[in-house]
Amino acid sequence: MIRETRLVENFLDMVKISSPSKDERAMGDYLIKVLEEIGLEVKEDNAGELNGGNCGNIIGILKAPGKKRLLFSAHMDTVVPCEKVIPVVENGIVKSDGTSILGGDDKGGIASIIEMLRVIKENNLEHPEIVVVFSIAEEVGLLGSKSFDIDSYKVDFGFILDSSGKPGKIVTKAPSAARGTIKIIGKPAHAGISPESGINALTVAAHAITKIKLGRIDLETTSNIGLVSGGQATNIVMPSVVLDYEARSLSNEKLNYLLEETFETFKVVCKEFGAKIEWNIKVEYPGFALEDNEEVIEIVKIACKKLGIASETVSSGGGSDTNIYNSKGIPCVNLAVGMSKVHTLEEYIEIKDLVDLSKILIEIIKG
Ligand code: ZN
Ligand code: CA
Repeated sequence: MIRETRLVENFLDMVKISSPSKDERAMGDYLIKVLEEIGLEVKEDNAGELNGGNCGNIIGILKAPGKKRLLFSAHMDTVVPCEKVIPVVENGIVKSDGTSILGGDDKGGIASIIEMLRVIKENNLEHPEIVVVFSIAEEVGLLGSKSFDIDSYKVDFGFILDSSGKPGKIVTKAPSAARGTIKIIGKPAHAGISPESGINALTVAAHAITKIKLGRIDLETTSNIGLVSGGQATNIVMPSVVLDYEARSLSNEKLNYLLEETFETFKVVCKEFGAKIEWNIKVEYPGFALEDNEEVIEIVKIACKKLGIASETVSSGGGSDTNIYNSKGIPCVNLAVGMSKVHTLEEYIEIKDLVDLSKILIEIIKG
């Protein structure tokens, strides 16, 4: 039922359309046309305006009144460099010419959804009600999905196609993450003449850092200071230092507790030294953890089994639109697309994986 040539051609067409985050207009226009041609009811929301981009989320609906309503979603934006992507097909693999990313993240997901829709139409397959969402600005903070009014679509559950790994891999857990800066403000002084009248911000930070939790905190929780910047010259007591910090946990409660504890420690140490603190850490996205017997997971497992594709549930270390939809109360899993070495110039995808994922999607809608 799947037409590999059509699937690959569609994928190649799409990777050639440049679509950096917040500049997805050309990609959006292409997808509106494709969805309309297939016969979906197509809409665009105002996520572009809300987030300073030139294109909204593209939504396509394939009606089936009275049936379950399933969400299928992938994001339109890619990381840079993606100004001019020249795909190269070699030995069953698609890669770029080495001067840009490929954009299989996440156009591999989009291609599989489109192939699924074409197969449904072409073969008159019975199907549930299908809501397709091609989101914007995923790579810069999940902005499209955050702005998307999923509530009004009354979706039962959903499948996000945006994970690396072989099709059959089902991401059912992902962490919540917080990120930002911690600025310690001390007091400058001449390091040789009057060091005692200064407060070295780095010394304050060092004391605090020995007291906070960093690295792997437990099986679900991690934290890291990834960047330290500050200081002016060796003869000046360092007036301020900025620490770039992040923390993640599969448990939202644990993350919040860790952040409070870390903030408290910094505050106490700063007070001790007479320094000030500017705490600018924000929770970027909430985590999710689905139970293994959730219907949305079972459906994928059954689909894989019918196809003889091995399936496994895993927890991811990063965030995706899946985090946002789960936090809005829609059980969603993130399915592997086959994209490899994403966010690098060596990014590639195997054609067989695109085909397998499309097959899985068709089994999912057959139910
Ligand atoms: Zn992605
Ligand atoms: Ca990505």
